[in-house]
Amino acid sequence: MSLFLIKLKNIVLDILFPPICVNCHKTLTNAENDADLRGKFICEQCLNLIKLNNTLFCPICRARLAENKKICSHSYYLLAAAGNYDDPVLQNLIHYFKYKSFENLAPILGKILIKYLSNLSFTINQQGQKAIFRREALGALPSLVSERSKESAERERRRAATAGVAATPVLIERWLSGYLIVPIPLHPGRERERGFNQAKLLAEITARHFNLPLIDGLKRIKNNKPQAKLKDFEKRIKNISGCFEIKNPNFIKGKNIILVDDVFTSGATINEAVRILKKNCAGKIIAMVIAKT
Ligand SMILES: [Zn+2]
Ligand SMILES: [Zn+2]
Repeated sequence: MSLFLIKLKNIVLDILFPPICVNCHKTLTNAENDADLRGKFICEQCLNLIKLNNTLFCPICRARLAENKKICSHSYYLLAAAGNYDDPVLQNLIHYFKYKSFENLAPILGKILIKYLSNLSFTINQQGQKAIFRREALGALPSLVSERSKESAERERRRAATAGVAATPVLIERWLSGYLIVPIPLHPGRERERGFNQAKLLAEITARHFNLPLIDGLKRIKNNKPQAKLKDFEKRIKNISGCFEIKNPNFIKGKNIILVDDVFTSGATINEAVRILKKNCAGKIIAMVIAKT
């Protein structure tokens, strides 16, 4: 189809089905509709309501792993969660993305992940490794930076200055440079049903932005029931157990991995993926999601 016909088709579609915000159902303005981040899905006001986290978390007790705070002794991987599942706007976006197959929401959710990662601002001490993160302005989604994260960045800067800590912070890109991105796979049958793997789309966007290799390192070998349908934690563990297989152990061995999924609720799916990765001698693991409960 020629460009003219595509434009004409879009104009006709916009007249027949005016783009509305998935959250408040308001008709989107032209600017909101045209902006590449917003697509045709969310209005400026709703987007601004999303509160981003500014730390990593312990996946077991959910403690915030803020600056200079040691990793919880009982967790063997870190949780990077951009927001919280009780954030109604984020919950709504995820719902449309995951259960209503709004594939085109991937770019905006991906940007939210990138913004969160780029704004992590703390000193982390893990296995003797010390890295100072710095807030990095991406220029996009400026309103998603919470006041709290601005304050904590300022506090961190002052503390670092008084403590004589390295004056040049390590860029998030440099810290992530040793990592591979691995998406949580869907069973091929489920992926066909939905039309896409939501975790893979988010993984691709993050990998592209931070210039990291993406490896489909895991295979789903059981078409288990969706975890969301099981309320009981024990049932979730049983349901997911033995679900994953490593495609090629050589791709995993000794590698630091960012495991990507959409949400972290009971943690059963990610725990199982981490277990099989660790069994195959993976290095450090960060589980990254849009939202945690
Ligand atoms: Zn709205
Ligand atoms: Zn903990």
